[in-house]
Amino acid sequence: MPRERFDVIVAGVGAMGSAACFHLARRGVRVLGLDADSTPNENGSSGGQSRMIRYCYYEHPDYVPLLRRSYELWDELCAVTSQPILRRTGGLYVGDPNGPSVAGSRQSAQAHGLSHEMLSHGMLKERFPQFRVPDGYEALYEPNAGMVTTATAIAAHLNLAIDFGGEIHAHEPVVAWREDDRGLLVETTKATYAADRLVVAAGSWTSDLLPDLGVPLQVTRQVLGWVWPRNPEPFRVGRFPVWAVDDGAGSLHYGFPLIDGLPGPLGLKVAHHRPGPPTTATSIDRRVRDADESAFRAAIARYLPDADGPLTGMKVCMYTNSRDAHFVVDLLPEHPFVAVACGFSGHGFKFAPVIGEALADLATTGRTRLPIGFLGIGRFRTTGVEDAPIQTSTLRT
Ligand SMILES: Cc1cc2nc3c(=O)[nH]c(=O)nc-3n(C[C@H](O)[C@H](O)[C@H](O)COP(=O)(O)OP(=O)(O)OC[C@H]3O[C@@H](n4cnc5c(N)ncnc54)[C@H](O)[C@@H]3O)c2cc1C
Repeated sequence: MPRERFDVIVAGVGAMGSAACFHLARRGVRVLGLDADSTPNENGSSGGQSRMIRYCYYEHPDYVPLLRRSYELWDELCAVTSQPILRRTGGLYVGDPNGPSVAGSRQSAQAHGLSHEMLSHGMLKERFPQFRVPDGYEALYEPNAGMVTTATAIAAHLNLAIDFGGEIHAHEPVVAWREDDRGLLVETTKATYAADRLVVAAGSWTSDLLPDLGVPLQVTRQVLGWVWPRNPEPFRVGRFPVWAVDDGAGSLHYGFPLIDGLPGPLGLKVAHHRPGPPTTATSIDRRVRDADESAFRAAIARYLPDADGPLTGMKVCMYTNSRDAHFVVDLLPEHPFVAVACGFSGHGFKFAPVIGEALADLATTGRTRLPIGFLGIGRFRTTGVEDAPIQTSTLRT
């Protein structure tokens, strides 16, 4: 029986897959995007209203060229859709000046000539009196940092993909794929499709579709919270930036300003950036529990005492951690007609448009001019990284 044929099938249309569908469809490629869930959905790694975006990347300066392109593409998406998907709020990174967050952000800023200001402890208290941080802590302020609203971003990419002729199917998981003499066969719960290329962007489910990837991935349970500040005015956008405080123990507490009218819970969003308890995408406990509040409540009381008001929301989400906390974006060495993007380790959303562009390049030409070489699969097969413990991305690598 003849099968419906596509140039490229994208398995998983969350943050990365939706952007890949858009870039492929815009190039005139016949693309089918498949998702196991609704599009967008809140059950993967992209739920929970918003994500931070910043240029001064403490994780590694090599990300900065990708960030430049990502910002361009986010701005383009905002212009095309007339929606404030990216908001520049300013960003404040606080901690020991020699610690990974402040020193790493400064290193990226200096290496790439990025706009930033260093704030002494006294300057920080004067400019941002909302914060109470230990003596000796300083800050880097970045005017171009901000936030991206997640569901609107994914929906915008998918709407544009459809406008350009792409096809998107929700609630149709890919269950298997294989190569045959004419290309690839992709089997879902509803049909089998033929395709020239496959892009796997299945987030925390990647190992189900690529059991032989050879890249260790660990899924962890993460909790986001929202509180209503006792005194909201100083925390409103314009007076309060996106922020992160390095706790000196290998993890970050971070959050967002108050913005009226965002989808999702009311209030000030806060979270703790470090891998939570290991789980799997199928067995994760998605219920929020009273004890989950401790992931962020102590940090609010300590660093932002005037924000320490009633709880307005909590949400369970997932990180998919690679061993070195850096992304994995590559063609499969054993199957060069299959591209993968995974292991975003809790810091990938801001890159979604440029990762989508890189995936579109890999799926159409087998290569890309975007500087993603440092994100290749090969590093796990040659350097012994597979034996290293999972890191948080606050630790420099
Ligand atoms: C609490 C939290 C806070 C974060 N904060 C930030 C931040 O401030 N800044 C930042 O840049 N990043 C942040 N991140 C990371 C960022 O959100 C992720 O890196 C990003 O969302 C990953 O996108 P993805 O496309 O890989 O996964 P997802 O968006 O989860 O997409 C995967 C999709 O694949 C689908 N799928 C699964 N199995 C199948 C199948 N068999 N067939 C078809 N479809 C399938 C799923 O339904 C899902 O829609 C945070 C993450 C979390 C959890």
